[in-house]
Amino acid sequence: MSRQAVSFHITEDTFICINCGRTAVPPRSGTRNRNHCPYCLTSRHVDLRPGDRRSGCRGSMEAIGVYVQANGEWSLIHRCTDCGIVKLNRIGPDDSERALLALAARPLTRLPFPLEALTCDTNEADHGDK
Ligand SMILES: [Zn+2]
Ligand SMILES: [Zn+2]
Repeated sequence: MSRQAVSFHITEDTFICINCGRTAVPPRSGTRNRNHCPYCLTSRHVDLRPGDRRSGCRGSMEAIGVYVQANGEWSLIHRCTDCGIVKLNRIGPDDSERALLALAARPLTRLPFPLEALTCDTNEADHGDK
């Protein structure tokens, strides 16, 4: 893959994703601080506090889950693959819905127990009622 010179001006909120290599531009509406890639949801460990860009880590922050607040607002749970810090970041208005859904559904696709066992438990409870 050849890297071409980027021909447009890169602002602080525009960056090239360290995971998928796509260029993330600031969303047109909503939060001004774009802190993760809208395509693969990967972030970068650049902040000590949100927006300050003062962390020296610069590690890749993998989206490991979704956190839903009481008001229904979604946040991404990011974990730095270098230092292991875990952070919450609000989702952006143009984040890939497919990527968000895949992330939210991930635990359901990898159950630590067989789904059949769960069905059997329900049946047994039904039998017990009669
Ligand atoms: Zn990406
Ligand atoms: Zn880090």
